Amino acid sequence: MKWIVLVLVLVGILLLVYRMTLKVKDKVTAGKIIKLSVQGKKSSKLNKQTCSFCRKKQKKLIFYSDEQGRVVGVCPVCKQQAERRALMRL
Ligand SMILES: [Zn+2]
Repeated sequence: MKWIVLVLVLVGILLLVYRMTLKVKDKVTAGKIIKLSVQGKKSSKLNKQTCSFCRKKQKKLIFYSDEQGRVVGVCPVCKQQAERRALMRL
């Protein structure tokens, strides 16, 4: 009767291994989804705004209203230039 116990143990181990591989597969797909969402975030980061003065792409712009009442986005480098022109900060 010992072989029945052995078979049961073996089946149990097989089931455990099967469950573990299933979990790993789940993790892999989850990882892929996370990677995709990260890539989406990256593409939105690429959508940087350009400075109205130096035309350099900047993450953070300071917005001013110019003499014509237009909104200009200015990078921290050109901020002084904008302030010299006495632009209204928005
Ligand atoms: Zn600039």
